[in-house]
Amino acid sequence: MKTFEELGIAPNILRAIEEMGYENPMPVQEEVIPYLLDEVRDVIALAQTGTGKTAAFGLPVIQSIDIKQKVPQALILCPTRELCLQIAGDLADYSKYIEKLRVLPVYGGSSIESQIKSLKRGVQIIVATPGRLIDLINRNTVDLASVKYVILDEADEMLNMGFSDSIDEILKQVPDGRSMLLFSATMPKEIAKITRKYMHEPKEITIGRKNEGSNNVKHVYYMVHAKDKYLALKRVADYYPNIYGIIFCRTRRETQEIADKLIQDGYNADSLHGDLSQAQRDYVMQKFRIKNIQLLVATDVAARGLDVDSLTHVINYGLPDDIESYTHRSGRTGRAGKTGTSIAIVHIKEKGKMREIEKIINKKFEEGTIPTGQSICEKQLFNFVDQLEKVKVNEDEIASLMPSVYRRLDWLEKEDIVKRIVSLELNRLLDYYRDAEDIEVPTGRFSKDEKRGERGDRGERRSGGDRKSVRTAEKGYSRLFINIGRTDGINPATLMGFVNDFVDNKVRIGRIDLMQNFSFFEVPEKESNKVIKSLRNTEYNGRRVVVEISQGGQSNGSGSRGNRSESRFSGGGDRGRKGSSDNRKSRKR
Ligand code: AMP
Repeated sequence: MKTFEELGIAPNILRAIEEMGYENPMPVQEEVIPYLLDEVRDVIALAQTGTGKTAAFGLPVIQSIDIKQKVPQALILCPTRELCLQIAGDLADYSKYIEKLRVLPVYGGSSIESQIKSLKRGVQIIVATPGRLIDLINRNTVDLASVKYVILDEADEMLNMGFSDSIDEILKQVPDGRSMLLFSATMPKEIAKITRKYMHEPKEITIGRKNEGSNNVKHVYYMVHAKDKYLALKRVADYYPNIYGIIFCRTRRETQEIADKLIQDGYNADSLHGDLSQAQRDYVMQKFRIKNIQLLVATDVAARGLDVDSLTHVINYGLPDDIESYTHRSGRTGRAGKTGTSIAIVHIKEKGKMREIEKIINKKFEEGTIPTGQSICEKQLFNFVDQLEKVKVNEDEIASLMPSVYRRLDWLEKEDIVKRIVSLELNRLLDYYRDAEDIEVPTGRFSKDEKRGERGDRGERRSGGDRKSVRTAEKGYSRLFINIGRTDGINPATLMGFVNDFVDNKVRIGRIDLMQNFSFFEVPEKESNKVIKSLRNTEYNGRRVVVEISQGGQSNGSGSRGNRSESRFSGGGDRGRKGSSDNRKSRKR
């Protein structure tokens, strides 16, 4: 193994990374750094987050910057604001001893004016999310003509988020003779297209095997009826008392529902999804990072910016619609040399999807048995006893209190005291599980709910709350939900104008139904995906816009899973979120 110095890293950067504790290069750094320092080169690297890729591209890029030139010389594109800030922060750390090197993060959701001011003052490295960079390009406030390096980080995520057109547009603005690096955890066809179009004889390197999840991750599935999914989740959480994990749900609504239920049931949980404001998301992420929250219930998109190395578990509350997302989800555990478990709580209909995932991760799911009440109680007990043994006793602080405690407990034998301590901790759990039946494992026949279409655990609430008529779209049209309505000052004309501001070649808009806090509008079925993609990451009066197919919104009336139900929002309470949990010590069930 070579040292950073042997790879050609300059002394002023060496000093900074040594202070950061980087002693030896990680494999991706060993491969990429000397290659890039050499000359103009293109690289495709299949590498997951946590492999050291930021330094792999960051160090040679920083070293190649001409600080006398106050123009952008390197452009790093990444999918989320959080990753953008993280990369910019890392680059600032690496370049701590390079005076006058300026790195600017540009991302949506923060003041564009101050980003423009910084650009005017002169920066050499821009780290950007594609949407905001396009905004800046359109305002003629950023000049990419001197860019020597383009890095696409988490390229597959950017494509998943619908940034393909934006990336195309951005790449047209940078000169041909630049080095381009593309980092991706997976290699879908769309990435191959980009590489063919924009890269010249790229060097392809793979850290870990292609499209394979981390070897430190065990993949386990629990097969249950849809109606039992939540119960199974609770049992898994109970069985691992020290769990620190993310529970992935498919939709924002499901995410909030599951988080609310867990909080109500006394778990130390909270939610993270796109209906929360940026400030709320930052707050939840910070609480999770410092382990004030044990279980984070999240959507794939919202969790992207969260970089935590020590997750014990990832729980798939159902498998993702897009099976490639499974690699990203499970890759969040088993990092930094630790082992982790990716759990999938699935029902029989998802078996086919599981097989497809196995092909991608090149591993088999192990079948898990839902823990019984008895095994959970035992596990919790031993965990508690373990804590009791290891607890740090602060002799000085309790010394003055102990005599009266001893006096009070004088009449009890040691065994009695231990029994009482254990009961204090476990009685509630024992009460809950005493008569709890084991969760039935499906035998292959679907329950009534499952036949209706994967909605078992929601059916109950639906039947009570639906409006009588849920409108379906005109023939050939899709009905879309948008989270802006009359209170946002919108009318049919402004809504049409807003939509067509973002959709290429304008789209024909059919029926529009304006509500107080949200609206529905219809577009030709064939164009619905384009419209949804085009409006992703847009804002209306400073608020992030959400557009989805509304439930029952297809003209054939089939709807699609996890879509917006019109009835859910009739109270207009779609913006708020329920209170977050405190760090609870004991759980009620
Ligand atoms: P990344 O994949 O760039 O997000 O890096 C994952 C983690 O590894 C980050 O916490 C980095 O600070 C850390 N890291 C990167 N390179 C090294 C290195 N050579 N030695 C030690 N830690 C590193």
